[in-house]
Amino acid sequence: MHKTFDTPVQYLKGIGPKRAEKLSKLGIVTIEDLLYYFPRRYEDRAKFSQISRLQDGLEQTIQAAVLAGDKRQSFWRKGFSIVEIIVGDETGKISCVWFNQPYLKQYFKVGQKLRLFGKVERYSGRLQMSSPEFEIISDDSGESLNIGRIVPVYSLPERMTQRYMRQIVKLALDESLGQANDFLPYSIRSSNNLLNLAQALLNIHFPQDFSLQKQAYERLSFEEFFLFQLPLLIRKRQSKQARGIPHKVEGGLVNSFLAGLPFKFTASQQKVLQEIKADMAGLEVMQRLLQGDVGSGKTIVATVAALIAIQGGYQVALMVPTEILARQHYEKIKSQAASRKPQARKISIGLLTGSIEKKDKQKKLRQIKNGEIDLVIGTHALLETEVQFRNLGLVVIDEQHKFGVSQRSLLPQKGKKPDLLIMTATPIPRTLAITLYGDLDISLITELPPGRQAVETINFSQAEKLQAYQIAQGELDKGRQVFIVYPVIEQSYALDIAGAKIRYTELKNNEFKNYKLGLIHGRLKQNEQETIMDKFKQCQLDVLVSTTILEVGIDIPNATCMIIESAERFGLSQLHQLRGRVGRGSAQAVCILLSDSQTPEAQRRIAAMVRYSDGFHIAEEDLRIRGPGEFFGQRQHGLTELKIGNPLAQMRLLKKAREEAQKLISLDPGMQQRQNLLLKQKLLRRFPEYQNLMLVA
Ligand code: ADP
Ligand code: MG
Repeated sequence: MHKTFDTPVQYLKGIGPKRAEKLSKLGIVTIEDLLYYFPRRYEDRAKFSQISRLQDGLEQTIQAAVLAGDKRQSFWRKGFSIVEIIVGDETGKISCVWFNQPYLKQYFKVGQKLRLFGKVERYSGRLQMSSPEFEIISDDSGESLNIGRIVPVYSLPERMTQRYMRQIVKLALDESLGQANDFLPYSIRSSNNLLNLAQALLNIHFPQDFSLQKQAYERLSFEEFFLFQLPLLIRKRQSKQARGIPHKVEGGLVNSFLAGLPFKFTASQQKVLQEIKADMAGLEVMQRLLQGDVGSGKTIVATVAALIAIQGGYQVALMVPTEILARQHYEKIKSQAASRKPQARKISIGLLTGSIEKKDKQKKLRQIKNGEIDLVIGTHALLETEVQFRNLGLVVIDEQHKFGVSQRSLLPQKGKKPDLLIMTATPIPRTLAITLYGDLDISLITELPPGRQAVETINFSQAEKLQAYQIAQGELDKGRQVFIVYPVIEQSYALDIAGAKIRYTELKNNEFKNYKLGLIHGRLKQNEQETIMDKFKQCQLDVLVSTTILEVGIDIPNATCMIIESAERFGLSQLHQLRGRVGRGSAQAVCILLSDSQTPEAQRRIAAMVRYSDGFHIAEEDLRIRGPGEFFGQRQHGLTELKIGNPLAQMRLLKKAREEAQKLISLDPGMQQRQNLLLKQKLLRRFPEYQNLMLVA
């Protein structure tokens, strides 16, 4: 019986309810799922070797007949058995043994022809294959799945064999490919030299040769990139069509703010600001991503954008991932706004986080609703339904990599098509940025404010810790401040990781007893955290012992030294973010990574930190080390779901896929033309959440 891609795998021969259950744990429910469960690697078992030519130590394939079956029944120990046969071809013979599989004996009648694959070893002078994979050759045996060809190897749970998987995949291919219509329009396939769907699926599982396997890989990667781009581009097109707010970009508020700043914008900041102004002035809704390294001055650009909206009478919401950061932005923007020339109108700024008191919160909510607050700075708390605006004109999301993609559309919904500015300090290569944020326009700050020096980064072993402390003391004695960062709050003796809490007490009583120390971590109450941050900011504390709570945004220019303990415990971009907390003034800063770790990955991360100061290099290296799935993390929709495409290795293909998607959307935005109907169905199956989007289009 013929099956379609939608048919549950359970309808395939050999898959009962139990197996189906097991497969579903791998995400395999339908035949389509099974066919898109790609091999992890291949084994080339295509070439048969003559027995006389077998080489010791290599995996090889032979075709031979059983010369002598197993005569002995040697039980070496209770529960341990061995089956041995001798097979031969016209050139020689070899012994094959299997352990603890006594039932195999029945297959090995003298004269039986076999194909065998396994590692050849010399055993007391004789050639031997131990536990080779084998196939019986009989006249009616069809195509060989396991030997005599390039064979797929899948990632499988225990107790599911490769053999079984190959068998059901083959069955699924045989029974469904005849009905498989290719959803990729013919014109796209032909102009990009792509295999059709049936050929691609066949050759990704059972490649005729490696060149076809490569073509299959290309086609399926292209397909993945293409499907991923389409909804992003549709969304982009729609938001462009939505009539937004034409903001008045020139005005007293912005001009007096800029005039009051103690520094001038870098060329990069100016360029980006122009891009933002052009967007905000236009009728289209701004959907812009602002990328820039830590410390490159994104916040101030965002502040200007906020003032643009405010001077036209609109409200602005600025969302950040942590309370500490929200408060820091609040204070900084407040003080910057206060230094304006007096003629400009006074703006009112409010802070809304999860921890503010109920009475205070009610009042804030009222003020936001009736428009008394112009700029609201807050955390996730801003997303709550009770937060309502009078006329939200701009949404800014800082450190967006800390939020999910779905969260980013929630805040704009609180206004009538407000502009959106998203900021991130995890810069990624442009092609990748376009893929991941395909629905956004991208601005880049490519330089740091003048006078900034790269933070000197040193790797010390634990044994050199005292030297690290001496460097820190040197900075302290110059009136500077120091961060000491630990991966965890509580000590772990089992894992031998220092914890911030205990080390704080130890440092306070020993190495740093002449200095004032503070401790900050996520388990302290919000107001305790604030008090400590305030003290540190006001230089009442010299050293701040902390966890990664410091990771994002914190801006204390007088801090010039950071020591990161057990540095191997941190991810690369995390290390870079942490390091970004020092070197924010004009003085030379130093970051010391304490680590003894010898694992190659940890060494690569630490070497990258020592070598690169710029976030783009760091991000690229991070991507290389971790791969895109891990790099973007669970929160990011899309790239993490790529099963086969590798955006880093296949940038060219990715670009082509995006171009084709762009072309298609501009020619047939609703995907209503006949050649695009299958594609539309496929897209809706893959991303049900885009249902509305597609209907509107
Ligand atoms: P980011 O958010 O990109 O990490 P910030 O906006 O926090 O960076 O800026 C880092 C520091 O640099 C802040 O203290 C800010 O006031 C300062 N700064 C921003 N732009 C400039 C500039 N053009 N010249 C000098 N200092 C600047
Ligand atoms: Mg910032």
